[in-house]
Amino acid sequence: MSEDIYSRYSRFYSSFVSRVKASEVRELLKLAEGKKIISFAGGLPDPRIFPKEELAEIARQVVSELGDQALQYSPTPGVGEFRRTLAGFLAGRGVRVGNDDSVVVTTGSQEALYIAILALVDPGDTVFMEEPGYLAAINAFNAVQAKIEPVTVDYEGIDVNELELKVRRAANEGKRLKLIYTNPTCNNPNGTTMPDERRRALLEIASKYDLLVIEDDPYSYFTFDEARFTHIKSMDKEGRVIYTGTFSKILVPGLRLGWALGPEELVGKIELIKQIVDLHSSTLSQYIAMEAIRRGLVDKVIERARSLYRKKRDIMLNSLEEHFSHLATWTRPVGGFFIFVRVNGDLDFKSLMPRSLERGVAYVPGESFYVVPGRGKNTARLSYSYVREEEIGDGIRILSEVVREVLAR
Ligand code: PMP
Repeated sequence: MSEDIYSRYSRFYSSFVSRVKASEVRELLKLAEGKKIISFAGGLPDPRIFPKEELAEIARQVVSELGDQALQYSPTPGVGEFRRTLAGFLAGRGVRVGNDDSVVVTTGSQEALYIAILALVDPGDTVFMEEPGYLAAINAFNAVQAKIEPVTVDYEGIDVNELELKVRRAANEGKRLKLIYTNPTCNNPNGTTMPDERRRALLEIASKYDLLVIEDDPYSYFTFDEARFTHIKSMDKEGRVIYTGTFSKILVPGLRLGWALGPEELVGKIELIKQIVDLHSSTLSQYIAMEAIRRGLVDKVIERARSLYRKKRDIMLNSLEEHFSHLATWTRPVGGFFIFVRVNGDLDFKSLMPRSLERGVAYVPGESFYVVPGRGKNTARLSYSYVREEEIGDGIRILSEVVREVLAR
């Protein structure tokens, strides 16, 4: 369908949908359709970790033995038994579930994030987040007309000194401050993990200026050996943190299951919004995920994810060392799906895309993850999660050749 602003439908559009822009990168990636491409672009899990046989068996059993409930409508916050199983799972993985906390099951953590934002943020409210930062968070904040204050990221995640300066300034200017959004562990797109001191500092800032924190955490469950961190949620003594997570990377994304965990009162408000959006998340998915937790299948997938992604991360880091040293700097993730690359010198990764796709390599230009237009042109997000191990080296070599060609001109 045409995106023409003068289309015959223009007058029907809400101001909301008019604020939502189609992704330019998605348009660029269409150039790759039908071609054989080594893709570092999407953040997809490797389907080799999907436990297909076991899930087929669980699904068969759930439908035939528990079908009357599992195929039925269910309560908005989630199937009670599943919510308890999930809370137990999280507590067992170091996420503090307090007596005053509640958990709502959502349709992926994307829904958790969006409905939390709908419940908390008014047009003009100021929110703080990493820059570069998670694209869908930027889009969601823009959709509700939040004022995003971007905060610089270094190798250890969000710069908490800059965060405090920006929060203080905004407070002094009388802005309505609401929350800090952060993806502190194996950040998308940066591949960075915040050390505990920074997490504590972030919470202290939230406390001092009375802000909430959304801790978005899809990747912490399968971090590699060297990772050391405490969930911000587990450091929170004041009920400031809404913790969102997902089964997308620790089981399968196709079930579309995530959660928001936090103070009961806040989660209650999130549930109100969820009821309007989709009544409840898939009952069948919840029954399947519950069985997968109980049978230890989620633990098994986590272990597979850990070893497969560590192997791929190592191959990508070694290839970068081989082909990009002196040309760029990059992050060294301790888990997750992403490495963020910054080329030294004047290079525009977005305008490089057609040439790179022509040579058979895809990535996401880093500027997509910046709040302020025009920033981050010399950066790119490379995902190692989906690409085959044997293609990573070639892909990085080709990309380095394309970069060198353009820099030499
Ligand atoms: N937050 C972050 C930081 C992510 O990278 C993703 C997945 N791309 C999500 C949330 C949403 O994932 P899902 O809806 O599948 O849980």
